[in-house]
Amino acid sequence: MRKPLIAGNWKMNHSPSKAIEVVKDLLNKGPIPEDVDPILIPSFPSLYPLYQELKDSKIQLGAQTMSFEDAGAFTGEVSWDMLVDVGVKYVLIGHSERRQYYHENNPEIIKKLGKAIENQLIPILCVGESLQERENGRATTKVEGQLHRVLKGLKPEDMEKVIIAYEPIWAIGTGKTASPEDAEEMAQVIRHWVQEIFGEEIAQKVRILYGGSVKPENIKEIMEKENIDGALVGGASLKADDFYTLLELGGQK
Ligand code: PEP
Repeated sequence: MRKPLIAGNWKMNHSPSKAIEVVKDLLNKGPIPEDVDPILIPSFPSLYPLYQELKDSKIQLGAQTMSFEDAGAFTGEVSWDMLVDVGVKYVLIGHSERRQYYHENNPEIIKKLGKAIENQLIPILCVGESLQERENGRATTKVEGQLHRVLKGLKPEDMEKVIIAYEPIWAIGTGKTASPEDAEEMAQVIRHWVQEIFGEEIAQKVRILYGGSVKPENIKEIMEKENIDGALVGGASLKADDFYTLLELGGQK
């Protein structure tokens, strides 16, 4: 059984003081549902203050990216051990906004993935097609290509640790959601790809998330799908009320 996971990616929103306020509010909503893995992914300056707030809670912290270098003269970068030191357990790798605005490419993504795995950070690898690729009937080819380039070289025991987030680029922050059927179809394609390369046992263990305008109103029908094990949520994770509802509904798979 794969445990549902709901991750809130706050992107470049919420200052540390606001982040603390939102987290306090979230913890006051009630107990965090048992049947879901809850993750918050705030901006770097909020990680340490949130680590202090969340020490005794089930909510784990994630980072939005990290360097593939260990340390040194890399201005503006953040290393894996800085993240581990402030209690981070998960790291987003290859989010489409990183690929699009910061030109993160597959060779870099491969190095980041390796660095995360080597240092016990759980990578959430983001893949997904553009609107043009979907309209041209190339969505599957695009996603399979991304998987192939980035994951093919992993050892099976490392593949098991990777979480894959399917995020169609046209659905991120746009209010447009892939239909639950389309999201499930791609999750199936992804699981099938993992099975072909790494075998059935690992394919059944790997968690696949859907991301793209997930909100309290649509999470239930997405989570009902067999191959979708959770959601990566941007906008709707920013408010404590909505995120708490997402955790409650996400756990009812
Ligand atoms: C995301 O940032 O990964 C995302 C899916 O954003 P949103 O939920 O706002 O579409």
